[in-house]
Amino acid sequence: MKPNISVLGTGYLGVTHAAGLAEMGFDVIGVDVDAAKVARLARGEVPFHEPGLDDLVRTHTESGRLRFTTDHSEAAAFADVHFLSVGTPQSADGEAADLRYVDAAIDMLAPHLNRPCLVVGKSTVPVGTAARLTDRLTALAPAGHTVELAWNPEFLREGHAVADTIAPDRIVVGVGSDVAEKLLREVYADILERGTPFLVTDLATAELVKVAANSFLATKISFINAMAEVCEAAGADVTTLARALGHDARIGHRFLHAGVGFGGGCLPKDVRAFRARARELGGEGAAALLGEVDSINVRARARTLDLVRDSLGGEPAGHRIAVLGAAFKPGTDDVRDSPALAVATAVARAGAEVTVYDPMVRSAGAAACPGLTFSGSLEAAVTDADLVLLLTEWEEFRMADPRLLAAWVRTPRLVDGRNALDHQAWAAAGWSVRAPGRAPVAGQPSRDGAA
Ligand code: NAD
Repeated sequence: MKPNISVLGTGYLGVTHAAGLAEMGFDVIGVDVDAAKVARLARGEVPFHEPGLDDLVRTHTESGRLRFTTDHSEAAAFADVHFLSVGTPQSADGEAADLRYVDAAIDMLAPHLNRPCLVVGKSTVPVGTAARLTDRLTALAPAGHTVELAWNPEFLREGHAVADTIAPDRIVVGVGSDVAEKLLREVYADILERGTPFLVTDLATAELVKVAANSFLATKISFINAMAEVCEAAGADVTTLARALGHDARIGHRFLHAGVGFGGGCLPKDVRAFRARARELGGEGAAALLGEVDSINVRARARTLDLVRDSLGGEPAGHRIAVLGAAFKPGTDDVRDSPALAVATAVARAGAEVTVYDPMVRSAGAAACPGLTFSGSLEAAVTDADLVLLLTEWEEFRMADPRLLAAWVRTPRLVDGRNALDHQAWAAAGWSVRAPGRAPVAGQPSRDGAA
């Protein structure tokens, strides 16, 4: 018989994992402390945008294979395997991860664990957390040492979360016993049948795989953004440089796009938390490297504001600026640590009148982003703009006709913060173009004199 599953924390990771396991035929209960979120999920509604997830949650809440509760004791009574997928944000007072939600989840679940079971951490945590939680869990659980802890880091990408959950590129499990490994092999049996790599490690290595993977991706992005700084100074072109580098199979093209830098609910805080933990452990090399990766990333945002100034020939104050994009990347409505919103807010703080349009994000909370007005369409956002600033490379923006937009704006000035558009085509439509790591492109006057 298949083991029953609980998933603690029904955010981006937890809901997708719970729905994915229901799709694989397990009976799953999702647990969250947010009663409003649980009520929506119980009705089959996903509170955020993730392609394909609505259908999966609706299908399995209707089939009865997936249900949601706020009651940790219900999960304890029901499940044999408990996945832990609560948030691990950056601490308010430093770079380290704030582990209060992980600790609280264990404290709320463990006192109800009256029989042998497996608790499996999926949240991204500093190395050493699992060992500490093992002690906490066995001390609090009535079933004591028959309750085991494993760590199974999650690598899903927002925007592709469903596909990544159903067909991950690898599964990593940190386990302390053969029993835990066997149970996890049962949970992932369908995936393993397809030959997906299954890496069995100790707890510490499993915790480290996740932060090391995210740090590597972040390093790649900051590397090319550092090259963009050099390209600007040397009069070279970073997109051509990246293309040429990427043809080397050892380097590859992915994550080598110079622009406004990385953001979201994972990479920035994971890099910082890993840096803090590496420092604690005496890993000075890793700490120094990650510190530089972070500062290059922070600088990429500031340098985008400089490009706006260059393009306008002065301060943004008094200008009307259309910002295209608010989500931290296309395919999601997640605005956590979004470079787009950070730059848009900085432009607004510099005195510009900023109108944001994003196909998925209609408002990012007025308190979080003072000075930003959200618009319902691309046309409304760019009409009468003095400058268009592309910050999230949605398909709608990539496909936009620069001639049409030139007719809507007051002045055809483009800052392409993602190096996502065809600058020659935009220049031919009359736009002056600035972008990180590239020389300015002057707009060509149109033959009919329209721009
Ligand atoms: P999230 O903020 O969207 O979701 C966390 C959820 O946990 C919230 O709904 C919150 O109410 C709930 N929660 C808090 N305390 C709880 C408790 N005691 N019991 C039950 N629920 C509780 O976060 P997320 O983006 O899903 O990330 C969760 C973890 O997964 C983080 O460690 C993150 O780094 C990691 N991760 C996220 C992604 C991603 O793409 N979002 C990918 C891989 C790993």
